[in-house]
Amino acid sequence: MIYYGAHGDDSAGNAYPDCSPEFNKAIGDAVFIGSGEQLKVDAPFVGFPKSEVVRTGLELNAPYHLTWSCYEGGDKACGTCGTCIDRKKAFEANGVSDPIEYA
Ligand SMILES: [Zn+2]
Repeated sequence: MIYYGAHGDDSAGNAYPDCSPEFNKAIGDAVFIGSGEQLKVDAPFVGFPKSEVVRTGLELNAPYHLTWSCYEGGDKACGTCGTCIDRKKAFEANGVSDPIEYA
């Protein structure tokens, strides 16, 4: 099984077509057939908003301090790009602060 981290907010408005449920099914079918039915692909959060992904990780004690979402390079996340803003909102929706340091 190959998992990838597409979530529902990324496919909203077709912003990232490779995060859509349609892509998930198509790539899953292609990999399954192409691997002689040995490999499967799944994006378990494809229908979930980012806030629910964060909630699930909080429940599982995911080490969020070790994760990275920023599109910009650097030693610290920028805090201002689209994905940094979405990340901070997802933590806020769960009533907790993002544990990473922003530039
Ligand atoms: Zn950023």
